Amino acid sequence: ATRPYDDENVFAKILRDEIPSRRVYEDDYAIAFHDINPQAPTHILVIPRGRYVSWDDFSANGSDAEIAGFVRAVGTVARAAGLVAPGYRLLANTGIDSGQEVPHLHVHLFAGHGLGPLLV
Ligand code: 5GP
Repeated sequence: ATRPYDDENVFAKILRDEIPSRRVYEDDYAIAFHDINPQAPTHILVIPRGRYVSWDDFSANGSDAEIAGFVRAVGTVARAAGLVAPGYRLLANTGIDSGQEVPHLHVHLFAGHGLGPLLV
């Protein structure tokens, strides 16, 4: 019940290297790059290589290998960035009410001083 995947979305273009990004990680299942408009001292986006519109689409339709690979990649990015000791926050906007802008699943990884309590 989600929209079909749009191969011209901005993260699809980043995956194909058609537009530049500041990549910090890549493997068979995921890539990670800095958000172009950071909302915290560290703001990285981690996305699966597969064509999934959202967390809902991915969790329902991703293979076990893709889901495991993606979850591991998120953790690897955080560890590689030295964020385990200071701590970090993950967020995945999903669907209309969340304000999700880019229709390719992405997990935001936020870190840095003063994240504060999560407010909705
Ligand atoms: P959403 O609101 O969909 O959860 O988050 C989309 C995020 O993608 C925003 O934080 C926005 O700054 C980021 N973003 C949008 N376009 C680009 C882009 O072309 N490059 C990068 N690196 N980030 C982008």
